[in-house]
Amino acid sequence: MGWVKGRVREIKRWTERLFSLCVDAEIEPFKAGQYNRLRLFIGDEWVGRPYSYVNPPDRRPLEFHMVTVPEGPLTSRLIHLQPGDEVELMPRSTGLFTLDQLPDARDLWLLATGTGLGPFLSMLGTQEPWERFENIRLVHSVRQAAELTYRDRIQAFSELAPDRFGYVPMVSREVCEGALCSRIPATIEDGRLERLAALTIEPDHAQVMICGNPDMVRDTQAVLKGRGLLRNRRGHPGQITVENYW
Ligand code: NAP
Repeated sequence: MGWVKGRVREIKRWTERLFSLCVDAEIEPFKAGQYNRLRLFIGDEWVGRPYSYVNPPDRRPLEFHMVTVPEGPLTSRLIHLQPGDEVELMPRSTGLFTLDQLPDARDLWLLATGTGLGPFLSMLGTQEPWERFENIRLVHSVRQAAELTYRDRIQAFSELAPDRFGYVPMVSREVCEGALCSRIPATIEDGRLERLAALTIEPDHAQVMICGNPDMVRDTQAVLKGRGLLRNRRGHPGQITVENYW
């Protein structure tokens, strides 16, 4: 399949290593939670990697949330792109980390580390989660407070549905007022997450989506399985759906 040319519209710098790339490109329709592939010609070869959309499918520009990977040839170039620069994308998006893979439930838990927040923002920007779930909780776990990105967009969801939506920020490497100072699995185990979210994680009512650091995805699943939740599998509906970011 061929590639399409995209043009950088904007780069948002959150911290020295965290940024979002906004791109205009003609691509086929996609679903919230899916990803594209971005590539640049570096040295004498094309280097490409998958990146999830932050923007909902009906909104432009295309937006991708990224962290520079130490010694990573692609992100260290992407972060220095300027408006008007070219980047190539796939015309078609892929990925099964989408709400249509989930059975219906009362509560939707969206658990992210770092840039794993992106697909959840895309989903929350569509009608589907609001039409299908009564209660929605978004948990964003990062190392430093400055990495709690997209606070304005999240605040808009809180204002839209104050009784149904809750946001729980978590910062692990410094004290941050208003955020839990811990990691996601530990705060499920000791009950702090559910207390702060004012909602319990129950197999009969919850669907849990987990996205980001593969160690966090593994450890969070282990804690949830201890609470009686199971992976969603084709033909065997459960409560846990995951996306590993690397
Ligand atoms: P991160 O190391 O993923 O940390 C984000 C949060 O997850 C931190 O609060 C961290 O807690 C927590 N965490 C780490 N392991 C966990 C576990 N087992 N259970 C629960 N929580 C856990 O940091 P990041 O800034 O989002 O990502 C940075 C690095 O990820 C990059 O430098 C890069 O190496 C890698 N990365 C790679 C790719 C890729 O495509 N190759 C893409 C994205 C990111 P602690 O502070 O306690 O560790």
